[in-house]
Amino acid sequence: MRIPALRQDMKILNTAPKIKIYGLVLLASLCLGIALACAHKQRKWLLETPVQDMVSHTLLESVGFRVLKLPELAFDDDLKPFIGQFVEDAKKRGVVIPEDTRQKLRQVVYVDKLTMQGGPGVMAACNRFYTYVGTVGGKRKLNWMTIEVLRKESAEYIGTNKEDAIIKLRELMYHELFHCFMNKGHLPPDYDGIMSPTFIKGSQRAVKEWDALVDDMFSPLYLSVIPDAGK
Ligand SMILES: [Zn+2]
Repeated sequence: MRIPALRQDMKILNTAPKIKIYGLVLLASLCLGIALACAHKQRKWLLETPVQDMVSHTLLESVGFRVLKLPELAFDDDLKPFIGQFVEDAKKRGVVIPEDTRQKLRQVVYVDKLTMQGGPGVMAACNRFYTYVGTVGGKRKLNWMTIEVLRKESAEYIGTNKEDAIIKLRELMYHELFHCFMNKGHLPPDYDGIMSPTFIKGSQRAVKEWDALVDDMFSPLYLSVIPDAGK
């Protein structure tokens, strides 16, 4: 009687490592499953989460700045060409951007941090600044604009496919240039276009329908439904 009992004990002892291995395999599978589910969710979130931008109109003194002259001109080489293209595309569709409006855009740059802080999901901004400086004849209003593009956030949005990336960057820049040059806000929710308030990651709209999007952007209908951005 003792021997079978002992054998039974030995059996139990022998199966213990196996149970441990099965347990570890099960645990590893579970972890892998959770990790894959999370990665899928993260990817889905990245693709579906809208990205936004900001339009600001700020009296510099109200945010603690004191400026006596216009800021230096600064244009990032990658972003600058879109300015001329935008002005040309507008002109072709009957919308003239006056030269003095164009001159007010002093900076178009990549930044790591926006001057006027945006919330999460914000990747670019059209900033309109103004201040008053004392002169012999009284006070003079100084006003100018800057476009800032968050380096990391915009890179995540436009993706790594080179051909698509430049088109998506152009769409983003046209959006900001429209805010600044036209002094206008966003399309209402029942319209869709470059001036919609959100950018959807993974959208191929600009790649597939660029000319139609630009036609819409400068159409009398869209210009009439997009509200003015500020003073
Ligand atoms: Zn916008």
